[in-house]
Amino acid sequence: MADITLNAPKLFDLSGQVAIVTGAGSGIGQRIAIGLAQCGADVALLDRRTDDGLARTAELVRKTGRKSIEIAADVTNKASLAEAVSRTEAGLGALTLALNAAGIANANPSEEMEEEQYQTLMDVNLKGVFLSCQAEAQAMLKHGRGSIVNIASMSGVIVNRGLKQCHYNASKAGVIHMSKSMAMEWVDRGIRVNTISPGYTATPMNTRPEMVHQTKLFEEQTPMQRMATVDEMVGPAVFLLSDAASFVTGVDLLVDGGFCCW
Ligand code: NAP
Repeated sequence: MADITLNAPKLFDLSGQVAIVTGAGSGIGQRIAIGLAQCGADVALLDRRTDDGLARTAELVRKTGRKSIEIAADVTNKASLAEAVSRTEAGLGALTLALNAAGIANANPSEEMEEEQYQTLMDVNLKGVFLSCQAEAQAMLKHGRGSIVNIASMSGVIVNRGLKQCHYNASKAGVIHMSKSMAMEWVDRGIRVNTISPGYTATPMNTRPEMVHQTKLFEEQTPMQRMATVDEMVGPAVFLLSDAASFVTGVDLLVDGGFCCW
């Protein structure tokens, strides 16, 4: 007999929740922002891009019937993030969800990499996630409730064959372990922190024309013989952010088409 206290679809319902998404002007962040709105959340869209990216995301969120605000900010700037959270709460209500996807990628052999290239990437990919989580959690701790998902990468778990990007790989390993650490700091105060580690995903980051040869290799090296679409990151994000994952914290969810099994 059905247990009438269980309502499984409702577990994924984000109605009444307010989310902030960094990197919302492009790729994975953009798609997840739209997915969160489709599940009922109002969404603050943050990106350093002031071009059409954010406006396009906002337009698609509007079509879901949910509210959004657009915030041009750099995740390496602590003051901008504090202001972004304030604007989110003033415009949309108490912040309860955060999805941190802003990130950059580049490559260079370790023996040649300039300190500046290393530092710039670390500042965005690792310090940027730290500062984002810090600003978001300061609000969530006041409400005694929140769920944060950081976008790491399978590169934080394995070393991508042929890609000379030690700084990127280290930044993503850092995001995974930092997120577990934060999950434990806040575990008794109502905040969950998890990561998603995508495998090769078709986004502007790696579908540029000069990447054609590389993307063919990405497809061949992936057990599923293709790259992920951005849509395939939405379900895992909704799951981890929602009450469907209410007992899940400190987890890294690999969404990699089986890549890390080989
Ligand atoms: P994307 O299409 O380039 O989107 C990333 C967005 O973040 C861009 O709009 C970017 O702006 C923005 N951003 C970069 N630095 C920022 C900063 N300092 N402050 C605010 N916004 C900033 O890339 P994506 O492929 O969707 O990547 C999203 C996340 O997934 C990244 O963390 C990436 O490392 C991770 N990931 C991607 C893949 C993949 O195969 N695509 C695989 C594993 C993990 P700009 O365009 O100005 O840089």
